[in-house]
Amino acid sequence: MTKLPSQTDFIVVGAGIAGLRASVELASAGRVLCLAKREVTESNTQYAQGGIAAALSDDDEVGLHLEDTIKAGDGLVDEEAARILVEEGPHRIEELMEWGTEFDRTGAAIAFAREGAHSRSRVLHAHGDSTGREIGRALYLKAAALKNISFREFEFTTELLLEDGEVCGVRVLDQDGQIHQICASAVLLATGGLGQVYSNTTNPAVATGDGVAMAYRAGAEISDMEFVQFHPTALYLKNAPRFLLSEALRGEGAYLRNIELKRFMPKYHELAELAPRDVVARAIAHELEIQRRPDATVYLDLSHLNAEKVRNRFPTIYTTCLRHNIDITTELIPIRPAAHYAMGGVRTDLEGRTSLEGLYAAGEVACTGVHGANRLASNSLLEGLVYGARAARTICDEAVPVRSGSDSISARVQPANGSTGEVESFVRQVQSLMWQHVGVVRDGNSLRQVVAELTRLQQQAPKSGGRSAREAANIAETGLLIARSALAREESRGAHYRVDFPLKNDAKFRKHSVVCGDSVSFE
Ligand SMILES: Cc1cc2nc3c(=O)[nH]c(=O)nc-3n(C[C@H](O)[C@H](O)[C@H](O)COP(=O)(O)OP(=O)(O)OC[C@H]3O[C@@H](n4cnc5c(N)ncnc54)[C@H](O)[C@@H]3O)c2cc1C
Repeated sequence: MTKLPSQTDFIVVGAGIAGLRASVELASAGRVLCLAKREVTESNTQYAQGGIAAALSDDDEVGLHLEDTIKAGDGLVDEEAARILVEEGPHRIEELMEWGTEFDRTGAAIAFAREGAHSRSRVLHAHGDSTGREIGRALYLKAAALKNISFREFEFTTELLLEDGEVCGVRVLDQDGQIHQICASAVLLATGGLGQVYSNTTNPAVATGDGVAMAYRAGAEISDMEFVQFHPTALYLKNAPRFLLSEALRGEGAYLRNIELKRFMPKYHELAELAPRDVVARAIAHELEIQRRPDATVYLDLSHLNAEKVRNRFPTIYTTCLRHNIDITTELIPIRPAAHYAMGGVRTDLEGRTSLEGLYAAGEVACTGVHGANRLASNSLLEGLVYGARAARTICDEAVPVRSGSDSISARVQPANGSTGEVESFVRQVQSLMWQHVGVVRDGNSLRQVVAELTRLQQQAPKSGGRSAREAANIAETGLLIARSALAREESRGAHYRVDFPLKNDAKFRKHSVVCGDSVSFE
């Protein structure tokens, strides 16, 4: 294997939709090093099922997509960011198709699905429920054909390098345990999500919040961390991963049933099963609480739908559930909510700039304000595309000469030694604290306790030079950022629900939370 370079023009950390799209754009301006901590095929992008939203159908308009996005975000969407998303989205998707992405069609026409809180059928999908994989495939092929881009898999970025307060490169732990410093004109964080902070998540193992933790340690502003979207419907079976059961199932007419097999959503919201995700997740949490059993569950029911249509439209879901002995065309699927998507992240402007010179961010790791307090389904792949391209264009315009980095950056968690068992047990403790106290329903007293407990745990973080210990430290760092922000927001809005402050407080909190160092403010 060739050695990692000590210098390049642009570093892109992450090879999901945002990192790939950005790399394609950057390749016209210089050498791009695109790093992934596992295979390039292992990212949240690869697991995206439902699809990608854009106003491309004849009966749709970008204005309607904008309205739906703003409504879902519950008063916190940055309207300019959302306008850019919906206006640039259709062009970015057409570009994807030119680059070989094959979306599902009905005859010659693109098939658009309807999802919760969308006023029109506007979600493009591929191979039924493998949209992310298809987009990732086509984007990777496009990027890999460009000679300026080098992909490096299994290279774990541990820290950002700083010089005079500006980001000038990254530190990377390679597969052999060697640390490398790579300098560049600009670094784009596209490290994706943080679902692994919770014990129940739809996210793959790579989603450990590394980008947020690294940016925070380097001094960047982190915004809206309290807004974590819990997907209402993840498969809930002992010893099975929390496999996502896409919103599109409810879009196609699936019902939610409680333990008495009664539909319950109509009593919680006028849109019933198509209500916004936070409403559905809280309704399920309430139904679970009523059962007062540790293994409580509710069910997703597709048995009244056309079986052949279900098998064709959701082949991955159908075969995955069948592997767990559930035929979704005839049997009820046990489900519970699971951590799914981070609306917050490294704060950026509309061009992908963070608060640190030389550092840019795009995709799920970034907080552009596009999702506000709650993401509209299928808007996140779109965000990765639109803002991945925008951040890359800004980087091209602002490129400075590559500098060599100094060796010192302040890291809150220092590496030392710790066994694999200790690391796993540490991670389980953090995940379980987060799930119990910073999950679908929160309250001030337990948030205060959890902040204290996580702060204590963080000081005892299992310390070894290894990758898993560093991920564990990032999980704890990111969990603490979520808990601190959730404690500071004394209201309920979007995906953040406080039993002690059940109402929205626009006068005080129609603002974004910003964490920088030890302070949490609202701006
Ligand atoms: C099960 C599931 C279903 C979903 N369905 C949909 C959907 O239907 N529609 C929709 O719009 N959204 C959906 N989402 C959300 C969407 O998939 C993500 O928000 C989006 O793909 C994020 O893309 P990204 O490029 O920002 O990050 P990712 O795709 O997660 O890519 C992150 C990349 O960063 C790399 N990385 C991370 N940390 C490091 C590190 N320390 N060093 C080096 N590399 C690192 C990873 O290896 C990976 O390559 C779904 C998510 C999940 C989990």
